[in-house]
Formats: sequence, C-alpha cells, structure tokens
Amino acid sequence: MLNSDEVKRLALEVGFDACGIARADCLADDEYPLRHWLERGWNAEMGYMGRNVDMRLDPRLLVPGARSVICCVSAYPPPTDTGGTAAFAQTRDYHTDIKRMLFALRDRLGIEAKPCCDTVPIADKHWAVRAGLGWIGRHTLLVTPQWGSWVNLGELVATEECDHYDTPMPSGCDDCGQCVAACPNQALTPDGPPMLDARRCTSYYTTPRPRPLPDGLDTGGYTYGCDLCQFACPFNRLSL
Ligand code: SF4
Ligand code: SF4
Repeated sequence: MLNSDEVKRLALEVGFDACGIARADCLADDEYPLRHWLERGWNAEMGYMGRNVDMRLDPRLLVPGARSVICCVSAYPPPTDTGGTAAFAQTRDYHTDIKRMLFALRDRLGIEAKPCCDTVPIADKHWAVRAGLGWIGRHTLLVTPQWGSWVNLGELVATEECDHYDTPMPSGCDDCGQCVAACPNQALTPDGPPMLDARRCTSYYTTPRPRPLPDGLDTGGYTYGCDLCQFACPFNRLSL
C-alpha cells in the first residue's frame, strides 16, 4: 500500500513541482470527449489518436492490474513575449528531464510502475485533473492554479493501491472564454466540452512535423507552435 504523503514528498524531492494521485479506472466521455473529437475528424492527420482509444481512456489496459496513476507536474518558465517560437520549444527538451525524474521516483518508491511521458497512449492532462492538479481549460490544456498551463506532465501507472486518492477541483474557467476569443482561427469550441480542431490550429501545422499551412489560417507571427490562446489566459498572466 502506497502512502500518498510519502509519494508526493518523494516526487518533489526528485524535482517535480507538484504531484497528485488518482485511482486507475476508465475516464468518462464527458471527462475526455476523445471519441466525439475523432468522429468530427478534428484529429486531422493524427491517425495515431484513433488507435488504442480504449487504452487512452483506461490505463488498466495499458498496465494490467493498474490501481494508481501518480501524476507529476513540472513547471517551465513562462515566455515574456508572443510570436516566433512557442514557449515549450524555448527550453531544453523536457522529455529527458521528466523521464529521468519518473525513473528516480519509481526507484525511490521501489514499486512496479510504467513511466509515461508523451509517447505512451495515456490521457495525461485528464489524469492530472483526476489527481486534483488543475482543470481542462477551454484551450484544452491543463490549467493549474499556480503555474497556469505553463507545465509539462509525466505519470507513473502503478499496480500498488494508494491509501488516499485526490479528487478533481472545480474548473476556474467560468464564463471567461478569453482563449477562445484570442485564437485567430476559431479552432476552439466556445461551449460544451473543451475541444480543439487541429485542422484550424497553426501549431498543428508547424510542430512537430511541419505541414503546408492551408490558405486563410493566421499564424499570429509564430513560426513554430503558437501560444496565443495560452497568453490570453488570466491564470497564465498570474504566473508571469
Ligand atoms: S495554439 Fe494558436 S491556433 Fe491553436 S488553438 Fe491556440 S491560439 Fe488557436
Ligand atoms: S482563458 Fe479563460 S476560458 Fe480559457 S483556459 Fe484560461 S480561464 Fe479558461
């Protein structure tokens, strides 16, 4: 049995900024409308998002016998100006650091667990919500109260039970909608479950595999990625 306080203490010790723990089960459609998004074709040419759908929603299919999803947050420096290169690409590749910290955490806990960082089919943002670390903003990213959406995520999917599981916090978006208004391409849904139409998002065309930009889309001055919807968010301005 994992002690949740100890897990969180060790997560901070190996370098993460926050940690929460969720019970491993299946995400509901209204928590993560993946099937609805795929039906609309909003994944564009990201065919891989249509594979392993059940596994993306249920980490027990990724790790047989999984009982706990240990979600870890690593904050990165907010950008100081818009345009050019998106913030996430201005710092060194986060995958290396996140994986190193996940392996270190697993070693210190002495448990069987699968480290996940981007390359594994798991709904990382949605598990972070379950683990009480933030909520899904209308721009579809995780919003944390402390660092806004300027965060990277990593998870350990463990077969160990935990003595306490965190619960989601209420969304802080209310009727804000500033990210929706800031998108020059109307790529974000103004109501209903937050969803992004990748076919209208310039970040999709410039990262990670550049594709020809369709006529009529506005890059807002970005050549790699796009942070316009994140810059508009009051929770990101708080972290500047
Ligand atoms: S990243 Fe840019 S183009 Fe994509 S949804 Fe946000 S503001 Fe719109
Ligand atoms: S800009 Fe407003 S609606 Fe968008 S994620 Fe931030 S708080 Fe939510």
